[in-house]
Amino acid sequence: MFSICSLTSGSAGNSLYIKNTKASVLIDCGLSGIEIERRLNALSLNCAIEKINGIIITHEHSDHCSSAGILARRYSIPVYIREQTLSKIFDKLTNCEIKIIEKYFNIENLEFETFSVTHDAVDPIGLIVKFCEKKIGIVTDIGFATQLVIDKLSGVDGLIIESNYDDKLLMQSDRPLNVKQRIKSRFGHLSNNDAVKLVDCIDKTNLKFIGLFHISSEHNNYELAYNTMKKYLEEKKMEYVQITACRQDIPLLLANLEN
Ligand SMILES: [Zn+2]
Ligand SMILES: [Zn+2]
Repeated sequence: MFSICSLTSGSAGNSLYIKNTKASVLIDCGLSGIEIERRLNALSLNCAIEKINGIIITHEHSDHCSSAGILARRYSIPVYIREQTLSKIFDKLTNCEIKIIEKYFNIENLEFETFSVTHDAVDPIGLIVKFCEKKIGIVTDIGFATQLVIDKLSGVDGLIIESNYDDKLLMQSDRPLNVKQRIKSRFGHLSNNDAVKLVDCIDKTNLKFIGLFHISSEHNNYELAYNTMKKYLEEKKMEYVQITACRQDIPLLLANLEN
């Protein structure tokens, strides 16, 4: 069994949890240590924080790494991070066990592949997680879907993809123009429609579930993000693909994939 959970998702913090019989891994931890612990317990998957084998950091923005150092020190969990990303948050990770990651690495029997994404961070990454024959693609902060991203996500069984804003709600908001431009830029975030366009480009033969991630509370809402993806999948006669709008306030189990 291969379980994928969202612990939290949105502008105030992001964290994913994946688990199989041997390994237990956090991808980003943008919540307080206590809250991560509480949410892990709430999932009832027998996922005690002491059993976590690694924390992977996708990029240095605080909504992805605020409690990494605290958890890593308290529970002696290694932090898996790109070298340049580490250089940006070195002070948060003092006295932690650090594992610098390259393109491929393993945590127990989970295999990971990293790939570059465009976002306004020093070396942001997307991830492919493999276990047995199953493959999950993760792109949580990405301003633009390059051909590399499309190639990497093709053929996945599950996809965690950012669906940050609705174009209309973003343009109507009171935010300064430069902030809106940053969000819409190639180094910002994907809109609901951008997420659909990316899903449209990939090979969906194996696709079973989509977790819509990083949904903005200001320029989007859960229903809108969900319905945009749902409409697209209905048009493609792919209603069987399960969609979850990942929430800021509660943890959610996205899928249990059988071996
Ligand atoms: Zn970011
Ligand atoms: Zn973020």
